[in-house]
Amino acid sequence: MKEVDYIIVGLGLAGLAFSRELEKNKKTFLVFENDSQHSSKVAGGMYNPIILKRFTPVWDAENQLEVALPFYNELERLLNSTYDTKIDVCRLFTSVEEQNNWFVKCDHPFLSKYLVPEIITKKYRGIDAEFGYGRVIKTGRIDTSALLNDYRSYLKDKGLLRIESFEYDQISFNIDSTTYGNIETTNIVFCEGFGLKKNPFFNYLPMQEVKGELITIYAPKLEIDFVLKSAVFIMPLGKHLFKVGATFNWNDKTSKPTEKGKKELVDKLNKIIKVPYDIIEHVAGIRPTVKDRRPLVGVHPEKSQLAILNGLGTRGVMIAPLVAKELFNHLEKGEKLRKEINISRFTE
Ligand SMILES: Cc1cc2nc3c(=O)[nH]c(=O)nc-3n(C[C@H](O)[C@H](O)[C@H](O)COP(=O)(O)OP(=O)(O)OC[C@H]3O[C@@H](n4cnc5c(N)ncnc54)[C@H](O)[C@@H]3O)c2cc1C
Repeated sequence: MKEVDYIIVGLGLAGLAFSRELEKNKKTFLVFENDSQHSSKVAGGMYNPIILKRFTPVWDAENQLEVALPFYNELERLLNSTYDTKIDVCRLFTSVEEQNNWFVKCDHPFLSKYLVPEIITKKYRGIDAEFGYGRVIKTGRIDTSALLNDYRSYLKDKGLLRIESFEYDQISFNIDSTTYGNIETTNIVFCEGFGLKKNPFFNYLPMQEVKGELITIYAPKLEIDFVLKSAVFIMPLGKHLFKVGATFNWNDKTSKPTEKGKKELVDKLNKIIKVPYDIIEHVAGIRPTVKDRRPLVGVHPEKSQLAILNGLGTRGVMIAPLVAKELFNHLEKGEKLRKEINISRFTE
């Protein structure tokens, strides 16, 4: 019988963040990953504390960024690579009202740290920006696909990763132990993203999955050096490549890219840029979103060996490191979870 402190189910951003907490705190663990979900792998990877629809703050953004940025920088050192690209986001204005609203928001105590109080009027080839842009600073992009690939290899080399499905009915709850096959464990932490729906212990939680599709284009005449946010975002990746996304679909529960999703992105993109491009990649994933737009963190109401880290929604990059720490401190140090993230809010 192999003994570990933890089994983690799922190696997306949630599983990765929790596994790092365990490593840092010298806990033993094993991760299961079955490649059924793709949200973290296909994500745009942006971190941005401002909602750019109406220029409002993202919930808990400062606390999240304070933990997230050092977290990714530490991973860069551990895995000897670069994942964090600092890049500004520029919001394309469509009217004078939006410009005025921008200036009003620039006086807000929190927003003023991120919104630059001037309008960019510089012309960029192929982009019609009659009302200019507003610039958001201290934003960036994590290359989640490269990070997860590298971290996967790292865990594999240490013998801590099993590329197989975790089968829920194989857990045995004994009086003084919990076993899964020939593994004895103290805790099981479920980080399955939309895979939650198949989890008989936690599928009572109100996940409202939202499918998203993204394309990557090759556009040699497009010259922006910021993430352009309009009806879609256009994110420079270097070598004339740009990620363009994303769609929001509340009905389709598959991770497959669709012609409809592609057409929606192309139609929106064509209204923003007037330079030629080729589509070279098209991907999709399901964002694990919750009814109240807060993460799902905590311990099962009846089985204290089982915990969950999920519900990262549209902002896993910023949220995952902080909530992983909070879950760890709850399980190991008895620290109270914040009410708004604790899954007990759905049972009390
Ligand atoms: C198109 C798109 C664009 C996005 N852009 C951004 C962005 O710019 N910035 C941002 O912060 N967020 C973005 N997101 C959201 C972000 O991707 C999610 O918040 C985050 O990835 C969720 O991570 P997770 O680990 O909870 O879930 P997932 O990434 O879904 O990971 C769950 C993992 O569990 C595995 N799994 C499930 N069931 C089992 C099982 N039974 N056994 C073994 N393994 C299992 C799955 O294979 C998967 O790898 C985007 C999402 C999409 C779809």
